[in-house]
Amino acid sequence: MKKLLPTSTAGSLPKPSWLAQPETLWSPWKLEGDELIDGKQDALRLSLQEQEHAGLDIVGDGEQSRQHFVTTFIEHLEGVDFENRETVRIRDRYDASVPTVVGAVSRKKPVFVEDAKFLRKQTDRPIKWALPGPMTMIDTLSDKHYKSREKLAWEFAKILNQEAKELEAAGVDIIQFDEPAFNVFFDEVNDWGIATLEKAIEGLKCETAVHICYGYGIKANTEWKKTLGSEWRQYEQIFPKLQQSNIDMISLECHNSHVPMELLELIRGKKVMVGAIDVASNTIETPEEVANTLRKALQFVDAENLCPCTNCGMTPLPRHIARGKLQALTAGAEIVRRELLGK
Ligand SMILES: [Zn+2]
Repeated sequence: MKKLLPTSTAGSLPKPSWLAQPETLWSPWKLEGDELIDGKQDALRLSLQEQEHAGLDIVGDGEQSRQHFVTTFIEHLEGVDFENRETVRIRDRYDASVPTVVGAVSRKKPVFVEDAKFLRKQTDRPIKWALPGPMTMIDTLSDKHYKSREKLAWEFAKILNQEAKELEAAGVDIIQFDEPAFNVFFDEVNDWGIATLEKAIEGLKCETAVHICYGYGIKANTEWKKTLGSEWRQYEQIFPKLQQSNIDMISLECHNSHVPMELLELIRGKKVMVGAIDVASNTIETPEEVANTLRKALQFVDAENLCPCTNCGMTPLPRHIARGKLQALTAGAEIVRRELLGK
């Protein structure tokens, strides 16, 4: 990536109202069968166009073809029973009814590869594709078969590696693993979380990223954030090991969060997708606010490694707000880019 401060999003963007209920996380599809297939592709084209019009350098599918960033992937796997549900505590934060692992998990066919090929045909810009990370996957399930979080994570890592290799072959430039669970289970992250992530990227030549945020702007998350105090130092627990890992890029929540920016020093040398857009607020940042966040990050991230980004996905936001935020992101990045280039 030659351009200084290449901009991108964490992943999801709002869906059009004819495809799914707007401003709602994980809302069910409004179409069925062939209409749904066409509808998802049309929505992907729209989302891509909005990203390109906003001037994003690295684009994605806006996650238009999935309902949930974890479950949609798991739905395609063998060994998981979606009828047999149990209520579990997710990320130690909220209860949810989840499917159950009832046998050996496996991927009988590719999950997102056709969607990625479709996106690849629509644009010449670098494309980024998101997959759930192994630890976040196991945290969204009840396990009656392996009876070990670690064992199940290794199985998912192997499956993710198969999918990732096919996404790479389909022309994806950056494969991102979403691991919000990394901000909660620090001991497990250091014991086997990062190791399973490295298994998931084994043998890949494309760039790889891990997205670690404080979650969507839903109530359970904003309530949880209130308990974290005035300084959020969670990243501190996992950065030293991540810095040593084979992952190329780390996507973080930085704007309007209480993460002390100096923690980024701990991952010096990695590319950092600095979240400069708050996804839990409908207030559109000014370009100058975005620029300020990026300037602060530049104290701890070398300019050639800094990639301006959103804190998390923007699915729950009204479309015009999300669009405004994308424009603020690229305008803010441009201010700092000019400063760095002395123009
Ligand atoms: Zn996120």
